[in-house]
Order: sequence, then structure tokens, then C-alpha cells
Amino acid sequence: MPTRATKRGADRTPLDRDCDVLICGASFAGLAVARELAGKGAQVMMIDRYEIGERQTSACGIPTLWLEALDLMGSHRQTFGELVIHTPHTTARYRLPWTFSTFDYPELCSLLAGQGDFQFETAKVDGRSADTVHTDRGEIRAPLIVDALGWRRVLGGGEPIQPPDAYLSRGLEVHPEGSADELEIWIDRRYVPAGYGWSFPADREVRVGVGSFDPRFHVKDTTVQLARDLDREPVGYQGNWIPHRIREATEGGVFFTGDSAGHCLPLTAEGIRTALYFGIACGRELADVVSGRQTKAAALARYGAFSATHRWQFEWMLRVQRLIPRIPPRALAPGLRLMGDRRFVDWSFNHYLAIAHPSFVTG
Ligand SMILES: Cc1cc2nc3c(=O)[nH]c(=O)nc-3n(C[C@H](O)[C@H](O)[C@H](O)COP(=O)(O)OP(=O)(O)OC[C@H]3O[C@@H](n4cnc5c(N)ncnc54)[C@H](O)[C@@H]3O)c2cc1C
Repeated sequence: MPTRATKRGADRTPLDRDCDVLICGASFAGLAVARELAGKGAQVMMIDRYEIGERQTSACGIPTLWLEALDLMGSHRQTFGELVIHTPHTTARYRLPWTFSTFDYPELCSLLAGQGDFQFETAKVDGRSADTVHTDRGEIRAPLIVDALGWRRVLGGGEPIQPPDAYLSRGLEVHPEGSADELEIWIDRRYVPAGYGWSFPADREVRVGVGSFDPRFHVKDTTVQLARDLDREPVGYQGNWIPHRIREATEGGVFFTGDSAGHCLPLTAEGIRTALYFGIACGRELADVVSGRQTKAAALARYGAFSATHRWQFEWMLRVQRLIPRIPPRALAPGLRLMGDRRFVDWSFNHYLAIAHPSFVTG
């Protein structure tokens, strides 16, 4: 089990440490990297500004196969075999070739952290010079550094690009108590001109939100509107920026994984399984460095190339993301009906799953 030490007030003692691998960010991507390093003999440190699992970063929906592959079903909340898509003129129901599930964020993080072997400290990462990461509690040095810090890409070189100019979508959701049976999506300009609304039930709560591909569109009012339209109380807000363009997965000797590398899929904004997938890939390369099977330079090259082989899939989805808002709402209904053909649904959803397939966990 990892050693955890959340420091508050006077306990927030200065940090001055050395380690073999420093993982910055303790959410999906960072925890997946750590999992692959367990038992490899490396001294691994992980830092995050919050305790592990303290701040939920998403609606926590994922293909069930990923929860099973990573032995994380203990965090499972609800499973759906069907996706319901509403437009102003129709409602389409797609029977999926695989199921989708919601899970509990703190429980999943705790289970995933338990598969790793690392020291954990709460600290805010401010930047880096060479092998030294600067935090609000002091400095940590490591030859291998991972940025799993999310969309800000804190350890990237150059000036960070801030929204709304960056390639970012924005998402906001509320978490009212209650229950429901269906996984629902709204493609409806009443809620967002380019993007979608969602309702993801998770046992005793329903996660209702709106995501906009255009970062200039503020989603607060329409998230409230969607919640009210569903007779849900708009309580328990949680939102963030969501990258919708893949970026270089290595830069300046640092490994980037998850949202920091733009590993969130455009169009669907599904970024959990991809954060896990690329986190595992990154962790495997680092494990080979630690065990002396390859150099750091080789690991950077191999991981960067691995991520780049997925670029065409991310860019293809970005093209569809840009296309859909241009389709007149009336034309969406016949389009959705056509795409509802069973063979097409199976084909498209299986290809979609293959972008980051759960078999990678054991592969
Ligand atoms: C409203 C909303 C709903 C979403 N729903 C889904 C969904 O249902 N399914 C799905 O697949 N994707 C969803 N996404 C996208 C998904 O949340 C992200 O793609 C995913 O969280 C990326 O994981 P990550 O580990 O790369 O980054 P994050 O989960 O963002 O984790 C980054 C970590 O770094 C820490 N951190 C950040 N900056 C610092 C710093 N300076 N110092 C120290 N620590 C820092 C944070 O505390 C956090 O723990 C949603 C996004 C939003 C905004």
C-alpha cells in the first residue's frame, strides 16, 4: 500500500527529496503510471495538490471492460447496455456492443493507488528546471519525471496557452441525489451550440452536465436548465477544461500522459480510459529504464512514438467534432436513424473502443 501524507498547516513541512521516478498528478494517468512501476525496485514518489481521490474530475463513465481489466469493479456504480441520444426532433437508442459503467471516483483512485508502490505527498507543482521539480513545499529531484497534471501541462516548456485560446472544451456538471436507468446524451442547441449535455446515473446520484467544444460558451446556465428539465436539483457543481487536441507526449526530457498530453478523445470528451491507457504505456517504458533494459532517451523516443501512432485517430475525431455542430438540427434525426443500424453501431463502437482497448492492460 502507498504511504500517504496529506500535510496541512504546521504539518506542511518543507520537502527536499530525491527519487528514481517522480509522478506529478495523482488522478487516472498518474496512478496508472505508478501501477506499472510496482515491484520494479524503483523509488517512486507521487505528488498532487490534493489527497488521492479528493477532487472528482469527471462524470466517471468508462467502458466496463476497463474496470474489469484493471480489477477496479469495487468502485463500480451502474452499468448501461444502451446509449440514448436526444435531439430536438428525435430520440435514438443505440444498443452498444459493450457496456458502459459509472464508478465512484474516490473508491477507484484508492483501489488503483493500492496497486502501486509509492510515497505520496500533497504539494502544488509550480514548475521545473532540469531534473528538479519545484513545489510550494520545496524541491524534488528525479531523473524520470512524469507530468500527469491535467490540461495545464504545468511542466511543459514555453508559455502555457490559457483558455479560451487553447484547444480546450469546457465541461460542468451537477451531482443531485436520485436514480435513473438510462445513459442519456442531448445534442440540442438549447443547451449548447456545439457540444452535448449528459445524464450519467451512478446508483444514488445522477451526474447531469453540459460540455461545450467552444471554450467561449459558458455552460453554467444551461447545465442548470438541463438539470431542471430533468427535475433534478442543480447541486454539487464540478467542472473543468477538457483538452480536445493531442499534443507531444514528451518534451524537455519529461513524459506527459493523460490530459497533459491531450490524450482526451475529441467529440466524446472521454479521457479516463485514454489516461489509463497512455499512463500504462508510459509506466511500462519507465519500468524498462529502471530495470536497466533501456535508456531514458530510448524510453522518451518509444513513448513519444507510441502516442504519435494514435494521432490520426484523435485528429479524425476532432474533424467529426467540428462537423456535427454544422449539421442543421433537422438533418440530425435522419442521420441518427441511419447510424442506428445494428451493424453500423457495432462496427463504429468497436472501432472507437479499439483506440484504447482494455486488452492493453494485460498485453
Ligand atoms: C465535467 C466533466 C465530465 C467528464 N466526464 C468524463 C467521463 O464521464 N468519462 C471520461 O472518460 N472522461 C470524462 N471527462 C474527462 C476526464 O475527466 C479527463 O480526461 C481525465 O480526468 C484526465 O485524467 P488525468 O489523470 O490526465 O487528469 P486529471 O484527472 O485532471 O488529474 C490531474 C491531477 O493533477 C492535479 N494537479 C493539477 N495541477 C496541479 C498542480 N499544479 N500541482 C499539483 N497537482 C496538480 C489535480 O489535482 C489532479 O489530481 C470529463 C471532464 C469534465 C470536465
